[in-house]
Amino acid sequence: MTESVLLGMPSRKPQRVASRVGKSYFVRTYGCQMNEHDSERISGLLESDGMVPASAPESADVVILNTCTIRENADMKLYGYLGSLKAVKDEHPGMQILVGGCMAQRDREAILERAGWVDVVFGTHNTHRVLDLLDHSEEWGPVAEVWDETTSVEDMPSMLPANRDSDHSAWVTITIGCNNSCTFCIVPMVRGREISRRPSDIINEVKQLAGEGVVEVTLLGQNVNSYGRDLDLNGRSPIFADLLRRVGEVEGIRRIRYTSPHPKDIKEDVMYAMAESAAVCEQLHFPLQSGSDSILAAMHRGYNGERFLEKLEMARRIIPDLAVSTDIIVGFPGETEQDFQDTLDVVAAARFDSAFTFQYSPRPGTPAATMPGHIEKAVIQERFERLVALQNAITFEKNMEQVGKTEEVLVEGPSKKNPLVATARTRGNRPVHVDGKFDAGRFMSVEIIRAAPHNLFGVVV
Ligand code: SF4
Repeated sequence: MTESVLLGMPSRKPQRVASRVGKSYFVRTYGCQMNEHDSERISGLLESDGMVPASAPESADVVILNTCTIRENADMKLYGYLGSLKAVKDEHPGMQILVGGCMAQRDREAILERAGWVDVVFGTHNTHRVLDLLDHSEEWGPVAEVWDETTSVEDMPSMLPANRDSDHSAWVTITIGCNNSCTFCIVPMVRGREISRRPSDIINEVKQLAGEGVVEVTLLGQNVNSYGRDLDLNGRSPIFADLLRRVGEVEGIRRIRYTSPHPKDIKEDVMYAMAESAAVCEQLHFPLQSGSDSILAAMHRGYNGERFLEKLEMARRIIPDLAVSTDIIVGFPGETEQDFQDTLDVVAAARFDSAFTFQYSPRPGTPAATMPGHIEKAVIQERFERLVALQNAITFEKNMEQVGKTEEVLVEGPSKKNPLVATARTRGNRPVHVDGKFDAGRFMSVEIIRAAPHNLFGVVV
C-alpha cells in the first residue's frame, strides 16, 4: 500500500493527459546505485510516454530530482537547488517539478510546504507511479505519494522500462529495503523492510536484458544475502546462492556482479555459487565499516574484526583470485585512537584491493546521530588520512601484482581524459586503460603491462 497526500483534489483517478509526446524531461540523481537505477527507470517511463531528454533543467518541461539522505547537508543542497529551480519555473509556467527518492520518502509534506512550487513528491517505492502522479498534479495541483509499512511485492510492478546509460551493462534490483539496523544508516527508515522480488521475475528481466544485448548485470540489494527470506514459494524461501546460479545460466550474460553482501550473513553456499558459475565475476564488495569490536557493536553490525577476517579467508579459499573491495567509516561516535588502530590492523590483514573510505558525519534520524562521544572534525581528518595512505599503498601493491597477467576485459568506452585510450574492466572490476579505440561492450584479452596506484595499463594480445 502507498499513502497519498493529495492536496485539494477529489479521490478519483484523473483523466489521462492527452499526450506528452515531444515534451522534454531532465533527471538529476543524488546518491547510490539504487537511485541511479531508479532514475534509469523514471527516464524509461517518461520516454515510454513520448518524452525526450533535455540537456539542462532550464530547457525541460519536467524536472525530476531523485534525492538521497546519506550525504552531509543533503537537505540544504536540495532546498538550495529547488530555490534555483523556482526562478526557472517562474520563466516557464508550464514546467513540472518532481522530487523523489529517500528524502522525498522521509520529508514528503515538508517538501511541499517549504517549496510550494514542487508539483509531485514520490517515495522510494512509488517510482512506477510517476506518470499517474504527473497527471494528477496537472489536473489538481501538488501531490505527494509515498509507501507505508504495508507495501509488499504485490504493490510493485515486476519490470519497468529503463533508459540505461550503457547498452551492454545493466542493474537488476533483487530486493528493496533492509531489515538490519546499522546505527549510522538511514536506509531502513526511508526504504523500509526488505522486500524481495520473485526469482522468476528477476530471471525474466535478465533474459530480456540479454535479448537486448546486455552482457553484464549487477544484482542490487541492500543485503543480498537475506534475499528471499520474506518470500514463501510453496513453503520454501528462495536463497541468494540459488538465484546467482540461475542468473548464471541465462544465455548471453557473461558477467554477473552483485552488491552488497553483509559480512554477518555471507556463507559458503554463496561463495561456491560464485566459484561454480562461470559468469559470476571473482569480485566481492565486503563492507568492513570498522575494525574495532566495540565500534562494530555500537554500529550493530553483527560481527567483530576476527569474524570478518575469518569470512574473508573463507571467501578467498573458495575463490582464489577474488578481488575484494570494502567500505570503512572513520570517526564513528566513541571511536578512540585504539579503536582506530584496530581498524588499521584489520585493513592491513585483509589487504583489500580497494576501499571506499568515509568520514563519519551524523545523519538526522539515525541512532548514531544522538550517541555520545562525537569526534572532532580535525581528529577524524587526521585518522582518515592515515587510513587512506595505508589502503592506497595496499591497492598499489595489489595492482603491481597484476602486471604480467593476461586478463579478459570488457570495454566501457573512451577514457574520460583521452579519447584515443579505451577504459575497460577486468572481471575483478579493476579499471584498465588500453591504447586505441574499441567499441563499448567488446570483450578483449589484454596483457597488463603497467600499474598505477588506482588503475592498470594493458595491451591487446
Ligand atoms: S545493512 Fe546496514 S548499512 Fe546496509 S542498508 Fe541495511 S542498515 Fe544500512
